Amino acid sequence: MTKHHILPRSRGGNGNGEKCNIIRIPQRLHESWHVLFGNMTIEETMEFIEIVFQGRGLRKIKKSWTGNDLYELQLNLQKETLSKEKEEKRKKKK
Ligand SMILES: [Zn+2]
Repeated sequence: MTKHHILPRSRGGNGNGEKCNIIRIPQRLHESWHVLFGNMTIEETMEFIEIVFQGRGLRKIKKSWTGNDLYELQLNLQKETLSKEKEEKRKKKK
């Protein structure tokens, strides 16, 4: 069994927060998760699945995704989250 951070450490998650952020899952499943979803948050992962497998937000379903396309989509989803977080912080300051 291996420890998986629900919110990745690289995204601000840690092991000792108020809310439990660590689950134990078999190594094979754990590796597969990161191969498919990198270090995306759960919300980003759900969006990723909807876009890639259901064509959400696309004019028509893209039938062929290269590894590069998928990686780029992950980066874009992560960028969107970061800018949303920045926006929320800005609003809180006001
Ligand atoms: Zn993990």
